[in-house]
Amino acid sequence: MRPFVYERPANVADALELHRDGALYLGGGTNLVDLMRLGVEEPTRLVDVSRLPYGEIEVRPDGTLVIGAAVRNSDLAADRTVRETHPMLAQAVLMGASGQIRNQATVGGNLLQRTRCSYFQDASKPCNKREPGTGCPAREGEHHNLAILGHSPECVATHPSDMAVALAALDASVRVRGRDGERTIPFEEFHRLPGGEPERDSNLRDGDLVTAVEVPPLAMPSRYRKVRERASFAFALVSVAAAVRTVGATVPDGEGGVVRDVRLALGGVAHKPWRCRRAEDVLRGAPADEETFLRAAEAELEAAEPLRDNAYKVPLARNLIVRTLLDLREAS
Ligand SMILES: Cc1cc2nc3c(=O)[nH]c(=O)nc-3n(C[C@H](O)[C@H](O)[C@H](O)COP(=O)(O)OP(=O)(O)OC[C@H]3O[C@@H](n4cnc5c(N)ncnc54)[C@H](O)[C@@H]3O)c2cc1C
Ligand code: SF4
Repeated sequence: MRPFVYERPANVADALELHRDGALYLGGGTNLVDLMRLGVEEPTRLVDVSRLPYGEIEVRPDGTLVIGAAVRNSDLAADRTVRETHPMLAQAVLMGASGQIRNQATVGGNLLQRTRCSYFQDASKPCNKREPGTGCPAREGEHHNLAILGHSPECVATHPSDMAVALAALDASVRVRGRDGERTIPFEEFHRLPGGEPERDSNLRDGDLVTAVEVPPLAMPSRYRKVRERASFAFALVSVAAAVRTVGATVPDGEGGVVRDVRLALGGVAHKPWRCRRAEDVLRGAPADEETFLRAAEAELEAAEPLRDNAYKVPLARNLIVRTLLDLREAS
């Protein structure tokens, strides 16, 4: 590991001032410090933002959650209000990493963790995301767990966060403090598809500090479901965050009811959490039955461009969407 300076600023203004000339913010360090050990990240200075006053979850009178960027993942998953009002968010956080890592990891760091593509993590290999212009060995090499949607010839990496998939479905937004002041970024615009600049994971500007995530109230049953290679402590091959509200009669194993409202996002399939707008359009106002759910999933996955070894993700995502919507229909 290269030598670096560690700073713990007392306030946000000092944090922004210290973030210059090769510095990086430090949340819980569970991703960044690993990448420093591997020689993938080489900051000159770590600006520890984990103790800035962003460690609370506020519930506004209208039910909006304001989750500070320094809130630990464990505290978010255990929060009683979050579990009751936004269960998919608590479930998504709980399905990520391990208890020890969740105790250390912060909300800001979770959103900005880097891809787990094995070539990105191996500093001896070429990789457009780590070193633009060097190529993408994953495209022809090991890519069984990489993207099927929205990738580019430059990069086929996936975004690893579970929490971010739930936040994408929940119409969240991200509060940011930059050198030009404060602004709010809608969640769908926060992360990026790779295009010709895979080195950029998000639309943050240099020095921007994430201070909070805002999550509007959710008046429908919701659920996060994740398929992984081990029962725990593994990143998603495919995951789904879904919320559905139906109206009209619904019988347990048959027809009935119409989809009034729905939110759907996929994880493990793209460079960013994938909001399923096409599927939602098919679902809204349609009968809440298996045939509609299948049609919606297929409409979304029409855009899929699987690679040699990850075509299994297309039926996996389709089945996961349908199964989760069926479960939620019973609950709604
Ligand atoms: C073995 C293992 C398994 C894991 N499995 C999963 C999993 O299944 N699902 C999942 O979602 N995650 C998983 N994780 C990832 C884990 O959740 C992340 O490491 C963690 O959320 C990162 O949070 P952190 O606070 O430690 O971030 P850090 O490591 O401190 O930072 C990560 C990045 O965010 C930046 N950053 C941090 N805070 C801010 C801020 N406030 N503003 C701007 N930039 C900031 C840092 O500069 C850095 O670039 C796993 C991690 C490990 C090690
Ligand atoms: S998929 Fe992206 S991160 Fe992986 S090797 Fe290719 S460019 Fe690098």
